[in-house]
Amino acid sequence: MKDLRLSAAREGGLRTVVEAGGVAVGRGLVVIAGPCAVESEDQLIRTAVAVKEAGATMLRGGAFKPRTSPYAFQGLGLKGLKILGKARRETGLPIVTEVVDTRDVSWVGEYADVLQIGARNMQNFSLLREAGKSGRPILLKRGMYSTLEEWLNCAEYILAEGNSKIILCERGIRSFETYTRNTLDLSIVPAAKSASHLPVLVDPSHGTGVLGLIEPMSLAAVAAGADGLEIEVHIDPPNAKSDKDQQLTPEAFARLMRKLRALEAALARIEADEAELRPAEARPAAAAGSSAAGGGPRSREAAGQAVPA
Ligand code: PEP
Ligand code: MN
Repeated sequence: MKDLRLSAAREGGLRTVVEAGGVAVGRGLVVIAGPCAVESEDQLIRTAVAVKEAGATMLRGGAFKPRTSPYAFQGLGLKGLKILGKARRETGLPIVTEVVDTRDVSWVGEYADVLQIGARNMQNFSLLREAGKSGRPILLKRGMYSTLEEWLNCAEYILAEGNSKIILCERGIRSFETYTRNTLDLSIVPAAKSASHLPVLVDPSHGTGVLGLIEPMSLAAVAAGADGLEIEVHIDPPNAKSDKDQQLTPEAFARLMRKLRALEAALARIEADEAELRPAEARPAAAAGSSAAGGGPRSREAAGQAVPA
């Protein structure tokens, strides 16, 4: 890939760990959960308490919703951000929320621990530059029609402004398949981790849009080496104001979290067994090298030796 001066994988395979609101993204499994949109204080706080109890590490919720139709619910704006601030005070969970306009970056950044740039805005270059200048951690979603090279070039725009706190997030791409909302491209996880030092998350909610596929795709994403997940959870999905068909109930999310933690432990055991089998003198180099090769869960182990962003 040409001219990826700042986002390309580093010599020795050192990976970036993004510190965001006290959570290290790129070291261990991070789970961002919460509703598609902030709809009311009651809806958000109840959802936030439930996802925290289930073991989520960060809270998501859109205050600005980029919708296909201009007549669909657009989000609560400032009121939504204030509700997110209250949820953070009550649960301690760091906040991930989307910013859609260059004029909003600095003040939304006062409420958000991570600014999300959505799929529809991946190549909004002025927004990327502004996000870079803000110095805030940025969750950069992959555009639905974008190649890995285009995606990493967008990360490059943020990095070129001096901000290396970037978290990539695969959220499905358009294909001829209509059964799913998007086609979740899990092969991009090891590919992105091989091409770049940045952490990679997966959003199986927008990636599939099908309730029954969210759990298996979440587990598959972790097996493919994802550093974490972003999952939509709503206290009352049938009455959600957006994306009601893909939001998990808190109970379904809690079940998924139990399986994710069991999978994480199993992968760590496999990792430890493999490390034992490696000749002693090859161990440190092999650990760093494995992250450069990307792919497997082993790259998370290597993240422990990474240089912080
Ligand atoms: C979202 O996460 O709220 C969202 C709109 O996702 P995407 O940009 O991936 O469609
Ligand atoms: Mn949504």
